[in-house]
Amino acid sequence: MYTPALENLRIVMVETSHPGNIGSAARAMKVMGIKDLRLVTPRKPFSQETFALASGANDIIEQAQIVPTLQDALADCQIAIGASARSERTLQWPQMDARECGTFVAEQLPQQKKIALVFGRERTGLTNEELDHCNTLVHIPMAFDFLSLNIAMAIQVLAYECATAVRLATHSQPMAAVDPDEALANAEALEGFYTHLEQSMIDARFLDPENPRLLMRRLRRLFGRASVTVSEMNILRGMLAAFAGRKFQSRLSSD
Ligand code: SAH
Repeated sequence: MYTPALENLRIVMVETSHPGNIGSAARAMKVMGIKDLRLVTPRKPFSQETFALASGANDIIEQAQIVPTLQDALADCQIAIGASARSERTLQWPQMDARECGTFVAEQLPQQKKIALVFGRERTGLTNEELDHCNTLVHIPMAFDFLSLNIAMAIQVLAYECATAVRLATHSQPMAAVDPDEALANAEALEGFYTHLEQSMIDARFLDPENPRLLMRRLRRLFGRASVTVSEMNILRGMLAAFAGRKFQSRLSSD
């Protein structure tokens, strides 16, 4: 999975105490296709544990920039999102949950914006002054408010949400223009499929036209949720035709 937009997503770790956490964080980033790591005054130099836990993400550690202050880490970013272990509902900062953060990042990244996700110290998190440098906060909802996630795990969750949202956004837009078979099937094609499906089910005596109940509505709901593409629609029509011992001649494909 390579998503170019993720190149503009940066992970910032502020005054991290444990060198091992930096390694785990690099691994969490690498598996999601995020490369840019900035470390604000880490408490200890990299150790064997850093590289052991990075496990194949050594390049991210080697390229990570170490900077003295959070402002330095954010200087070329348009948006900073502070990750908070606490739900800051009572405070002034706007807050998102992890999924909303993914959606927000996926909306902003394609506009050539550089976005930073900022993570705090293992023991004390981010200070209020540091949160002031963030446009908004993100909190990963947990079962217990008095607990927190390990920092690398918090990075993994948010990296996953951002990467997934970016991938979904990328696939549902430009790809359709590039490959017509991967475009979503239009309403006309779907209606043709539903008619074909209904007739097939009647022929197979699975659907009683005298007593259809809610079967077609339920199936419409199912396929409506599935975002069926042109090529997938051709497979479904081909299957229905094959079950009836016929050949389905596609008129949907570009070829
Ligand atoms: N006791 C600290 C916990 C810090 S955990 C505190 O109350 O802030 C270290 C970092 O991991 C946090 O600063 C935050 O950036 C991230 N983190 C941990 N749990 C999180 C959660 N549920 N949502 C978002 N970020 C979290």
